[in-house]
Amino acid sequence: MQAECPTTAGTAIHEAFTRQLRAFRANPAPTLAQRQESLAKLLRILEQYDDAFASAINEDFGHRSRHESMMLDVGMTIGDIKDIRRHVGRWMKPRPVGVRRHLLPARARLLPQPRGVVGVISPWNFPVYLTFTGLAAALAAGNRVMLKPSELTPRTSALIGETLAEAFDPAQVCTIEGGRDEAAAFSALPFDHLLFTGSTSVGRHVAQAAARNLTPVTLELGGKSPALLGKHANVETAAQRIVFGKLLNAGQICVSPDYALVPREQLDHFIQAAQDAALRLYPDVLENADYTSIVSPHHYGRLIHMIEEARGSGSRVVQIGARAAETAATARRIPFTLVVSPDDDARVMQEEIFGPILPVLTYDTIDEAIERINQRDRPLALYLFTNDTCERDRVLEQTSSGGVTVNDTLWHVACDSLPFGGIGASGMGAYHGKCGFDAFSHLKPVFYQSRVNATSLLYPPYGRVTEWVGALLRKVM
Ligand code: NAD
Repeated sequence: MQAECPTTAGTAIHEAFTRQLRAFRANPAPTLAQRQESLAKLLRILEQYDDAFASAINEDFGHRSRHESMMLDVGMTIGDIKDIRRHVGRWMKPRPVGVRRHLLPARARLLPQPRGVVGVISPWNFPVYLTFTGLAAALAAGNRVMLKPSELTPRTSALIGETLAEAFDPAQVCTIEGGRDEAAAFSALPFDHLLFTGSTSVGRHVAQAAARNLTPVTLELGGKSPALLGKHANVETAAQRIVFGKLLNAGQICVSPDYALVPREQLDHFIQAAQDAALRLYPDVLENADYTSIVSPHHYGRLIHMIEEARGSGSRVVQIGARAAETAATARRIPFTLVVSPDDDARVMQEEIFGPILPVLTYDTIDEAIERINQRDRPLALYLFTNDTCERDRVLEQTSSGGVTVNDTLWHVACDSLPFGGIGASGMGAYHGKCGFDAFSHLKPVFYQSRVNATSLLYPPYGRVTEWVGALLRKVM
């Protein structure tokens, strides 16, 4: 069942692209029925292979909570695709837009058209969700799609390739497996649009490669997303929800709360509430099937180094879990770890953490908290906990982030009526729901001139009539 698609770098990848481009030119306007059929195929794959995907992810991670794989990689993706399928017929229709008085009685419309051949580069942390949601949006918009899933989840990437090759002609959907060489060759292709989900540093390379072809990009990147407890927050509730957001997938989520900012007078209360919440959610780390491992020895070592460095520099480090000390490196499990008031130049405050470590910083005034957030790159997400609307609106107005959830973590991502994307170093462009359909479409502006119109009054040779019409236009426009 392996794809006809090539899996080596260079020429073969280019051939796969050329095949899709030719196919797109032969059929540049897939019908609604064709798009619905493509989405139905994706749904069938996910329903038929849900167990196989959960097992593959589990093996790739060392251990991945089966519930989280079923809910977040498979279930959420199925829900998103069903939603796209429900609405795609409406999204495809021409969209009337207004025309100003001087152009009447002409009409104007936006005509959604496929862009052509779309590339989707996805990361390892939600390998199915982050590959299939981009793929579904691009297919709904009528495109051909080439995928490059992550080499860090090789079993899942292979299964994605095999199942898609069984269902789709490679001229419509094709998977390129491989590592950095294949990825670099992939991003050098002259795609009509490229969706990249991954780190900010690799995102810069991808943007440079795409720029050489003037390929438009959607960059879904990461960063340090703060969780801010306002002066009017319920500390227990906030701690519970931050810990939940932090420990899901063991913190390996782009929108995971990266660090917490808490009022100085609430520091001890917050630390205690966070410990209690972690123990309630994951009473044990080592043997707990709900607790996910760190994906690779490299990432495990990176996180351990962050903790050791913080400890070495005198920061208070609190590790939670009855058997925290026994955590085995072989299982690559790291218990929930609080690092209290680390230095700004500590690694834990310099890099996106992407693991179950939560630095806790304190502030005295809400202005100071806002300033600390604004001193850094603009984050992918911001989480604000407050029961005061003035405080809420002040933080919303004075900070800039890809998205926000107020009084919880993560949930704005699951709300498909909201576009999802970053700003600045956390990304550019957005997708999800209708916004995803639009991201992979060219909304072609079309002006329909009316049979009866006055434009000939503006033709040369210019004279008195032109001046009179010009003066009139200046008044009515
Ligand atoms: P990564 O940037 O290392 O890799 C992502 C993908 O890029 C992989 O498929 C990889 O093969 C490919 N790649 C590597 N080098 C490349 C190159 N030179 N050109 C083109 N592609 C290349 O990221 P990762 O470690 O897989 O994922 C973790 C990062 O992704 C975190 O920073 C996280 O915040 C971010 N992320 C963002 C989102 C989002 O939606 N904004 C979602 C998940 C993860």
